[in-house]
Amino acid sequence: AQYYLRPSNRQQQSALARLLSSLAVLEQREGKLQHGSLSAVTAAQKLGGSVTGLVAGSGIKGVAEEAAKVKGIDKVIMIENGSYDKGLPENYAPLLVENIKKEDFTHVFAGHSAFGKNLMPRVAALLDVQQVSDVTAIESEDTFVRPIYAGNAILTVQSSDKIKIITVRGTAFAAAEAEGGSAEIVEGVDPKVEIKTEWISEDLAKSDRPDLATASKVVSGGRGLKSKEQFDKIIPPLADALGAAIGASRAAVDSGFADNSLQVGQTGKNVAPQLYLCAGISGAIQHLAGMKDSKVIAAINKDADAPIFQVADVGLVGDLFDKVPELTEKLKQQ
Ligand code: FAD
Repeated sequence: AQYYLRPSNRQQQSALARLLSSLAVLEQREGKLQHGSLSAVTAAQKLGGSVTGLVAGSGIKGVAEEAAKVKGIDKVIMIENGSYDKGLPENYAPLLVENIKKEDFTHVFAGHSAFGKNLMPRVAALLDVQQVSDVTAIESEDTFVRPIYAGNAILTVQSSDKIKIITVRGTAFAAAEAEGGSAEIVEGVDPKVEIKTEWISEDLAKSDRPDLATASKVVSGGRGLKSKEQFDKIIPPLADALGAAIGASRAAVDSGFADNSLQVGQTGKNVAPQLYLCAGISGAIQHLAGMKDSKVIAAINKDADAPIFQVADVGLVGDLFDKVPELTEKLKQQ
């Protein structure tokens, strides 16, 4: 008689994990690894299998060494070439494609940042596969969860493509720990494509405050602030008293009260801090899409029926021009 021994679920899973090999595309700026992009490593780890990081640019050795220390990375591919310094997708996409083909990766992860959003659809197109965007959970090697319609519906998608090209939402996958790993560093292939796009300049908003996308506390202001002068007078002192980043609603940005880079929401940044404190924001669905995963939401609004109070853990009905300075003073006295 012949006996067939059925592998246990766990055995099957570990056999599968051995076949999975993920590439996490890591961002660098001015020779420094961008820790926000380490959410791609966390997502790759959740999947199981081996995790390789990729960094490219000039003087990249230091960044590669930083990446090699990241917990969960088994191998780092580095490509030394100044054309990749600014992450221009026209240059970067062929680079990724060559390295994906060479190493036969099954999954490629990048953060759902401006860099990832610019790059990954091009990579998917060059490989003739579908891209899966803004993933918030990984169900299995081919099934992923992502919000659509500004978070009003949650979609579970199954991809039959051989290579899965995925961007992940940073608020759903915490950045992998920067220390604790000891990956080997290898040189990747550089296709050295003809450079048709040139970096001219950039105009970056500089701030000494915590970065909005990764801050543990955020203070946001909306149209209720009435003017840029009032916004600047009321919001920064409260943010400083809390050690928080500053955010804004789209109405506040469109009215010129706050810089575009501070917009929170569907067409702005996604944030999930420990504390999200907002004043003069009504709580439109497009704003909630960017902040509703915050651990504690506190809202100040003079309208007790404002929709923001439906999601707020703590609400204060009152005039922000009195309440915010009062709160700021109390915090300063602590
Ligand atoms: P309002 O809705 O005008 O609310 C102002 C609030 O301030 C009111 O609730 C009022 O009671 C309160 N208030 C006024 N005076 C005081 C006072 N003295 N004291 C206390 N409270 C006061 N919005 C975003 O924020 N982010 C996005 O990314 C975004 N993307 C969008 C994408 C699309 C496709 C569309 C169509 C819209 C998008 N919006 C976005 C816009 C969104 O629909 C709202 O218009 C916007 O969020 C409203 O901003 P607000 O809450 O500051 O202003």
